[in-house]
Amino acid sequence: MDYIAERVKCIDASGIRRVWQLAQQMTDPVNFSIGEPDFPAPEAVKDAAIRAIREDHNGYTLTTGIEPLCKAVAAKITEQFNWASPLVLITSGVSGALQLAFMSTINPGDEVLILDPHFVIYSHIVNMLGGKNVFVDTYPDFRPDAKKIAEKITDKTKMLVINSPANPSGKVYTPQELRDVAQIAAKHKLLVLSDEIYRDFSYDGPAASIGQYYENTLIMRGFSKAYGIPGWRMGYMALPEHQEQLFNRMVALQQYTFVCAPHPFQIAAVTALKCDISQQIDGYRRKRDMIYGGLKNTFDLVRPEGAFYAFVPAPGGIAGEFVTAAIKNNVLIIPGSVFSRQDSHFRISYTTDDDSIKKGIDRLCRLAEKGW
Ligand code: PLP
Repeated sequence: MDYIAERVKCIDASGIRRVWQLAQQMTDPVNFSIGEPDFPAPEAVKDAAIRAIREDHNGYTLTTGIEPLCKAVAAKITEQFNWASPLVLITSGVSGALQLAFMSTINPGDEVLILDPHFVIYSHIVNMLGGKNVFVDTYPDFRPDAKKIAEKITDKTKMLVINSPANPSGKVYTPQELRDVAQIAAKHKLLVLSDEIYRDFSYDGPAASIGQYYENTLIMRGFSKAYGIPGWRMGYMALPEHQEQLFNRMVALQQYTFVCAPHPFQIAAVTALKCDISQQIDGYRRKRDMIYGGLKNTFDLVRPEGAFYAFVPAPGGIAGEFVTAAIKNNVLIIPGSVFSRQDSHFRISYTTDDDSIKKGIDRLCRLAEKGW
């Protein structure tokens, strides 16, 4: 008897598992694989969470989230988007928001436009729901090209996913690029899902949002990366007021799935929104510069502008082999095939100390120059 449902059989985590298995054999590796910040949560945020637990704020909350957090988020959204009364749902991380959004919108056969390379979760959820991933190739510079997106639109296209600053490319889309994409989305009345979890990690100026140019956008933002609390599972979704029906469906679904985001961490998130994280961002800008400066002459690397990743072309054009060789040289990187239909690049997450970054750059360059 096969107990496993068809819908989960298409979830393939083998690429990442292979890297982790190889990592088990490594001693003291340079770890460029982890997609989480290496700085601690601000003290005020930790204190707020501890206080909330001690003061017994440990029960369920309203499905949408506690009022002070919803209000604080709504104020930020109104300030940026001019949406008078944004609808706000506090979620269990952006992953939770993605789950609710795709489940509430994608029917079998619906097409979802995803720029390739992309964050892994999107395509797996779409597959699970019987939707169709339609990939828009953004190689070699990873810019969003409105014309290429338009070419892929059919009468089945329902949603377009935008992720800027982007994982894994580290690109930050310009206001003009987003305006052009928004125009296409408006022409075809698409729903846009804008994953802005790396919004704060934009090193050459503030990151724009497609929501500024197109109202039918689900804005998703999180606390995991900016405040160093990925294990707390805190994120949120914001929609314009006229999307109330969709919003209510997602609230109903949250009620029967996640129930609510963790109560004490919702309280601490109110404090987090008031924290200044510019030092942390400055630190990562410096690491971005180290990585780009160290790798650009050996690899044909496109300059990363945000998030904390570099997506590097593998010498010889096949990342799988280079990644295996790098791991043998004690540098843990992720092959591009995990994020893409092609395996020509590898991802570096530079959220590690400067010595490790220097060591990693050195080993990767030596490997590329002498062969493997
Ligand atoms: N979106 C992107 C682009 C990510 O890279 C990640 C995590 O790596 C997430 C969403 C999920 O983040 P979380 O569920 O921790 O909020």
